[in-house]
Amino acid sequence: MASKASILIIYTGGTIGMIKSEETGSLVPFNFENLLKYIPLLKNYDAEISSLSFEPPVDSSNINPEAWIQLTAIIEENYDKYDGFVILHGSDTMAYTASALSFMLENLSKPVILTGSQLPIGLLRTDGRENLIVALEIACAKKDGKPIVPEVCIYFENMLFRGNRTHKFNAENFKAFISSNYPPLAEVGVHIKYNHQLIRQPQINFLIPHTKLNNNIALLKLYPGMNKKVVDAILNTEGLKAIVLETFGSGNAPTDKWFIDCLKNAIQNDIVILNVTQCKGGSVELGKYETSELLKEIGVLGGGDITTEAAITKLMYLLGHELKKKEIEKLLPISLRGELSEE
Ligand code: ASP
Repeated sequence: MASKASILIIYTGGTIGMIKSEETGSLVPFNFENLLKYIPLLKNYDAEISSLSFEPPVDSSNINPEAWIQLTAIIEENYDKYDGFVILHGSDTMAYTASALSFMLENLSKPVILTGSQLPIGLLRTDGRENLIVALEIACAKKDGKPIVPEVCIYFENMLFRGNRTHKFNAENFKAFISSNYPPLAEVGVHIKYNHQLIRQPQINFLIPHTKLNNNIALLKLYPGMNKKVVDAILNTEGLKAIVLETFGSGNAPTDKWFIDCLKNAIQNDIVILNVTQCKGGSVELGKYETSELLKEIGVLGGGDITTEAAITKLMYLLGHELKKKEIEKLLPISLRGELSEE
C-alpha cells in the first residue's frame, strides 16, 4: 500500500484567515489554529498535514522580497520531508509571490500551490474551504509515483494556473485570477482534469533555491499626458538598474522626442528597459507599429507575453545574481520557468 502523502501548509495571512477587528471593523489577519478549526474535516484527510505560520500573519499588501526569501528558505528546509506545499496567501499580491517563487525555486520537482479566498474561512459562504481542500488534493496528486504538478501554481475557484502567468483581475468575484496567455493546468469540477501536456516537468530533480533578490527596479506605466518631470524622476532614481515599461497595446509608446531621449539616456546609463503590455492578454511586438519602432531602435527589450508581475520578479531575480547587463538582456527573452511564450 502506498504511504500517505505528506503536505506542509504555510500560512502567510490573507483574507482566508481574517476576522473583523472589534476596534475598527476592518478585516485583520488571524492566527492559524483558528483557521483550521473551521475545516474539522481536515483532521480525517487522507494525508499527513503539517502546518506553520508567518508570525504575525500579514495582509498580502505587506508581502515583500523578504517574505519570498523566507518562503524559499522554508521550502528548502522542508523539501525532503514533504510531497508538496500549500501556501495560504492573500490574493492581492499572490500573483507576485507565485511569480517570484517560480524563479527562486529552480528545478522544482514538487507541487507548490498558492491559494487563499475572497471571503474569510469563518463565514458560511466562504470560498476558502473549497480552495484549500482542492489545493491540498492537487499538492498530493501523483501519477506513476511522480507529482502531477511540479510547479508553483495558483489554485482559485476551480482553476489551477501556472503561478507566473497569473494576474488578479477581480476584487470581488470568487473567480479572482486570470491567466490570459497560458491555459489552465487543471480545471476542477466533479473531477480534477489535468492538462498534462501543459505542465512543466523538471529536467533535473535537484532543487536549487535562490535567495538573492535586488529591488533596484521601477515600474513605469504609460498614460496619455505623462509629465516629463515624473519620468525624469523615475529614470534618475539613484541605484536604478531596470525598468518595467508598461506600454499600450502591442508595445507602443508616445514618440515625443523628450520621452525617447529620456529612455535612451537611461539605456546608455546601463539601465535595462523591458517593455510589457498594459493589456491583460496578447504580446509585445516591437516594430509592429511605428510607435514601437523607436523603442526597438534605442534598445528597449520586448517582454513578449510576460505579465507585469513576472517581469518585475524576474528582474529582481536576475539582478540578484549580479549579472552583467548583457547577460540579463540575454536571459529576459528566454523562458526560465514557463513565464513567457518563446517565439
Ligand atoms: N487584502 C487581502 C490580502 O491580499 C485580500 C485577500 O486575501 O484576498 O491579504
